[in-house]
Amino acid sequence: MFEKILIANRGEIALRILRSCRELGIKTVAVYSTADRDLKHVLLADQAVCIGPPPATGSYLNMAAIIAAAEVTDADAIHPGYGFLSENADFAESVERSGFVFIGPRPETIRLMGGKTTAKAEMLAAGVPCVPGSAGVLPHDDAECRRIAADIGYPVLIKAAAGGGGRGMHVVREPGELGERASIARNEAQAAFGDGAVFLEKYLETPRHIEIQVLADAHGNVVHLGERDCSMQRRNQKVVEESPAPGITAEQRSQIGALCVEACKRIGYRGAGTMEFLFDDGHFYFIEMNTRIQVEHPVTEMVTGSDLVREQILVAAGEKLALRQEDIVWRGHAIECRINAEDPFRLLPSPGEIGKYHTPGGPGIRIDSHCYAGYRVPPNYDSMIGKLIAHGSTRDSAIARMRQALAEMIIDGIQTNIPLHRRIMNDEVFGQGRHHIHYLGEKLKQWAADS
Ligand code: ADP
Repeated sequence: MFEKILIANRGEIALRILRSCRELGIKTVAVYSTADRDLKHVLLADQAVCIGPPPATGSYLNMAAIIAAAEVTDADAIHPGYGFLSENADFAESVERSGFVFIGPRPETIRLMGGKTTAKAEMLAAGVPCVPGSAGVLPHDDAECRRIAADIGYPVLIKAAAGGGGRGMHVVREPGELGERASIARNEAQAAFGDGAVFLEKYLETPRHIEIQVLADAHGNVVHLGERDCSMQRRNQKVVEESPAPGITAEQRSQIGALCVEACKRIGYRGAGTMEFLFDDGHFYFIEMNTRIQVEHPVTEMVTGSDLVREQILVAAGEKLALRQEDIVWRGHAIECRINAEDPFRLLPSPGEIGKYHTPGGPGIRIDSHCYAGYRVPPNYDSMIGKLIAHGSTRDSAIARMRQALAEMIIDGIQTNIPLHRRIMNDEVFGQGRHHIHYLGEKLKQWAADS
C-alpha cells in the first residue's frame, strides 16, 4: 500500500480524499495556491506545498509544479480529484514517467474516452446505445454538414469533441443556421479546449440525465454501482443528483449496468468511472464517459455503503476489487444538493468571507465541505463550496430529510444557492420525479421574477 499520497486538487474533494487516506493510514501532501493557504485540508495534511499564484493555470494546472511537489515530499502516488488535471492524459503520463502512481485509469484510456467522438465510436463498437449523430468530427464543408444534419433530423446539437463542463454547445433548429453556428462553436472550442473539432448529435428536447458508476481493478474485474439521476441542471451544470433514478426498474439497472461493465472490460478500464447517458422514452443513449471520481459520487456511496475514493486508492495500488457484482445491494434513496457561493436565482458568483456557519445533522445527513466560520471563498475557482447529502429509506423520506437539513443550514456573509434548493425540494414536479434536463432552466426564470 502507498505510504504517502499527494492530493492535486482543492476544496471539498481534496478534504474528501484526505479523509479516505487517513482512514487507510496513508500520509497526505496538500498542494495549494497562494489564495488557498487557509483551506481545511491544507491545515490538516501531513505536509503542504505552495505551488503557485491564484490563477489555476499557474497552480492547480501547473503539471511541473505538482510533480516537483511530489518529488520533494517523496510521495508515492497522486490523486487528481475532479476538474483541473483529472482527465488530462498528458498529466497522467508525466506522473507515471516521473515514477509516481496516477490514481485513475491508464493515460491511453483517458485519451480514448476524453475525446467525445472517439469515446462514442468505442461505445458503439461495444454495443452501448449512443445519441444518434455524426460519425465522428464534422467536416468544414457546409453542404456536407447540412447533409449530415438532415440525416440526423433537426433540432441538432453542435458539441465540442474535446468539450467539458457543458461549454460550447449550440442547438440548431434550421438548416440555414448550421454553417454560422458551427463556425462559432469551432472558435469557442478552439479557445476553451485548444481543439476546434466539433460534432453533431440529435438534440433531445426533454430527456433525463442518468449515469452509471463503474469500478474496475487492474486485473480485469469490473462492477457497476447502479445509476444516478442528474436531471436537475442549469446551463448544463448539475445542481441536484440522486440515486436511484426515479422510475428506473431493477431490470433496467442491471441491463444498462451490464453493458457498461462489458464496455469497461473491452477498453481495459481501471479505477472509478462514470458513463453518462440521456434517457428518453424508456431508452438510454450514451453521451460521454468521465474517467475520474465525480462530484456526485456520495449519493452512490450512501445507497451502496461503499467508499469510492478508498476503492480508487486500493485499485491504484494494484489490489483486486473486493466487491463482486452480486454483493452490491442498493438500500434506500440518497439526494445531493450542490451548495454554491452564488446569487440563488441569478446565478452570479458571490465570493467573500463566511460569517456564521451552522451545518445540519440528524439521521441520514452527510456534509462534504471544506468551509468553516471565517473562511474566505476566493473568487478564482468554481463557486461550489460543498455538498449536502440526505439518505432515507424512500425517495420521499430523503426529500423530507433534505428539506429539514436545508432549513437548519446557515451560511452568512456570502450568498448561497440554499434558497434555490429549498424551492426545488418543495417543487411538485421534482417531488414526482418528472423533471428533465431543461426543467430547472425554465423554472428559474419564474423563481427569479418572484424572488
Ligand atoms: P460536458 O462534457 O460539456 O458536460 P456532456 O456531453 O456531458 O457535456 O453534456 C452536458 C449536458 O448537456 C447533459 O447533461 C445534457 O443536459 C446536455 N446534453 C448533452 N447532449 C445532449 C443532447 N444530445 N440533447 C440534449 N441535451 C444534451
